[in-house]
Amino acid sequence: MRLSRYFMPILKENPKEAEIVSHRLMLRAGMIRQQSQGIYSWLPLGKRVLDKVNAIIREEQNRTGAIELSMPTLQSAELWQESGRYDAYGKEMLRIKDRQDRPMLYGPTNEEMVTDIFRSSIKSYKDLPLNLYHIQLKFRDEIRPRFGTMRSREFMMKDAYSFDLTREGAEHSYNKMFAAYLRTFDRLGLRAIPMRADTGPIGGKLSHEFIILADTGESEVFCHKDFVDFDIPGEHTDFDSVEGLQAIFDKWTSLYAATSEMHDEAAFNAVPEGDRLSARGIEVGHIFYFGTKYSEPMGAKVQGPDGKEHFVHMGSYGIGPTRLVPAIIEASHDDNGIIWPASVAPFDIVVINMKAGDQACDDTCELIYAALTKAGKDVLYDDTDDRAGTKFATADLIGVPVQIIAGPRAVANGEVEVKDRKTGARETMTIEAAINRFVA
Ligand code: ATP
Ligand code: MG
Repeated sequence: MRLSRYFMPILKENPKEAEIVSHRLMLRAGMIRQQSQGIYSWLPLGKRVLDKVNAIIREEQNRTGAIELSMPTLQSAELWQESGRYDAYGKEMLRIKDRQDRPMLYGPTNEEMVTDIFRSSIKSYKDLPLNLYHIQLKFRDEIRPRFGTMRSREFMMKDAYSFDLTREGAEHSYNKMFAAYLRTFDRLGLRAIPMRADTGPIGGKLSHEFIILADTGESEVFCHKDFVDFDIPGEHTDFDSVEGLQAIFDKWTSLYAATSEMHDEAAFNAVPEGDRLSARGIEVGHIFYFGTKYSEPMGAKVQGPDGKEHFVHMGSYGIGPTRLVPAIIEASHDDNGIIWPASVAPFDIVVINMKAGDQACDDTCELIYAALTKAGKDVLYDDTDDRAGTKFATADLIGVPVQIIAGPRAVANGEVEVKDRKTGARETMTIEAAINRFVA
């Protein structure tokens, strides 16, 4: 991508409305734009990051055997009347009427709809277990939308829904998501700790919130500090192994970890004082097992091996991609801007032409840009005629992991500089060496 032809509206000044660093940096880097309170456009740079986050979430969901579909944002109120949640949900639900005066709503979650899809086609235990998920916009009319896309009214959610014949089966499905979440957040460069959680309006029996420790987090959390160094389940985790997944769950729930709603002072005080971590955190994921809470009122049942009909046991599993992007920034930035983990960086490399219009600089940059693009890298080429200082500031602000800098003096020697955004380390090398480093 040539910066001269891209759309990346950088702000020079710090936006006044931004209270936390991630919101400030997302606005300054031209990643998002507020359209009305708590409702955002994702501008091209932000969209690239969001897509990369979603790709990782999708890969890890698929690895467990979950199956992607897409359900609409608008739902009919009738479904919610069946479960009894139409009245219970309150003012967070945006209620709409269509031209025939039929009550509709912008979905805050999809338990009812997915249960309706399930009951319309699945009749036998032989088709279980089943886990269906989508990555879709939600709307919740939050009282206090704030911190940019961290807490917005319209936001994206990966929501998965599992169906099993028995409670034991549902626990295995729960453990699959538990392990997948550990892997997902790890790949996003985050350390998320599962904490026992309240089940809230979705209701249920077993529930964990995945929390990232951050000073700007809205939740107050308490946990054993060893969680910070626990091993993440590997790529070859066998998601069909009931015992294997149970062992992961048992390990990751063996020490104290709870949000303030579930906090048990006495249990926390039993943790040796030096091991207690009391901090603030950001909830980036939440998983629930809720048994037959929806399947009973909505009549979602299957024939079991005993020939009788059984209401299915369900769970739901949410991750917030539009909250994860600012959460990653909260965890990874410095005074100059964002430092993206390579896995979600909007571009892999930025090529900075320090003197656009200078033949040697232009030729060198074009050569590097073409070679790296051909090798499948996402390259941003700063070919604008801005001053070098402005270009460096922009490159640092948008947090691309590697900068290749071509200035007249180095280029005259057949060389460029390669800068690591995270460490700030700079290395001078030949043009060929710079290309080979990233092509190999
Ligand atoms: P919170 O406690 O932060 O209000 P919640 O418990 O209501 O969230 P869930 O129903 O558990 O949210 O939703 C699953 C995930 O969706 C959350 O873990 C979070 O990552 C994301 N999410 C929920 N509400 C919002 C929001 N208003 N803005 C952005 N992401 C959100
Ligand atoms: Mg929650």
